[in-house]
Amino acid sequence: MRILFLDQSGKPGGAELCLLDIASQYGDRPLIGLFADGPFRALLEQHRVPVRVLAERAINVNKGSNLLQGLSSITQVVPLISQVVQLSRQYDAIYANTQKALVVGAIASGLSQRPLVYHLHDIVSPDHFSSINRRLIVGLANQFASCVIANSQASATAFIAAGGRAELVEVVYNGFNAALYQHHRAAATALRHALGLGDRLVIGHFSRLSPWKGQHVLIDALSHCSPNVVALFVGDALFGEEAYADQLRQQVAALGLGDRVHFLGFRDDIPQLMTLCDLVAHTSTAPEPFGRVIVEAMLCGTPVVAAAAGGVMELVEPGQTGWLTPPSDADALAQVIQTVQAQPEQTRAIAHHAQMVAAQRFELSHTNAQIDRIMQQLVPQQQQQPALQQ
Ligand code: UDP
Repeated sequence: MRILFLDQSGKPGGAELCLLDIASQYGDRPLIGLFADGPFRALLEQHRVPVRVLAERAINVNKGSNLLQGLSSITQVVPLISQVVQLSRQYDAIYANTQKALVVGAIASGLSQRPLVYHLHDIVSPDHFSSINRRLIVGLANQFASCVIANSQASATAFIAAGGRAELVEVVYNGFNAALYQHHRAAATALRHALGLGDRLVIGHFSRLSPWKGQHVLIDALSHCSPNVVALFVGDALFGEEAYADQLRQQVAALGLGDRVHFLGFRDDIPQLMTLCDLVAHTSTAPEPFGRVIVEAMLCGTPVVAAAAGGVMELVEPGQTGWLTPPSDADALAQVIQTVQAQPEQTRAIAHHAQMVAAQRFELSHTNAQIDRIMQQLVPQQQQQPALQQ
């Protein structure tokens, strides 16, 4: 099976990290075509996944763009489509991993007669997309995709509610290699000391800095907690949201929390950092499509509190595998932090249970087998192209 994967981003967000795991199972046979250069290309090369940057500069349209902004990108999109059409003739199927990849992949699939799979990592709702973008996603997927892989039931439901064809949709959760998240105690302790965190209660937040990821909610909650509670923000403003990063720093200064808040920027030692935390907080203010960081924290054995909306509801069973709080509710979050502080035994038991459940439910080999089954059904063995001579 030779798959041409398409992704619009040169930066490693959740959708890209998920793609890395999926594409890796096909060895050197697939190609990942990126619409922008960046650290994601380096990560793929490091994992020996064939990758090619197909565009000289990133396409200048985002989830909130209107029709005019969309049309202005046509001069960038047309040459990209023509490249993808040429390339796709050497592959059995096109696998679009992001919204712009869907636009390019759908037209290319029509022209090259290759089947199209769309991996939906988003909740197609007004919280996340402009009306024109929602119609574009649903229209193209309905018309061109042979399968829409939704990363949660919540993403699937939103797609169907927006007019997506239900019979196209298969829910496949992100998969994780549990071994990568375990046994980091010694490194975590060393890191805790290196960061000067001592024996304070450390609340970790792992996400790109973006208003809807709600870092401001945790800062607000921190101001209601005792002074020995500190917050660690891991992640950067990946998609041009530097103004929000500045706003967070101003909020910290205004609340006098300078010595209790650490911004670490983008890191690639997530398991060690999560392991050193006493609690991982997820605070998205809009429904989260999946929430990889929640599963990752569980796999590290670190307790999790998450905002109760979207795919998160499928990941956390309150009181059993973590805590849920209403989105944007800083008081409720502060209360959970106080509970974690006051009840270490119960907290440990919940985290331990979550670790076992997550390792079973989100096993990477299971996810990869589900994806491969979908792809094999789409392109039966006898129709697949032979491997290229290297
Ligand atoms: N992540 C990372 N380094 C950082 C911050 C985040 O590698 O500094 C990873 C994190 O471990 C997770 C992904 O980025 O695997 C974010 O995925 P999630 O589903 O939580 O959010 P998304 O970016 O898809 O909205």
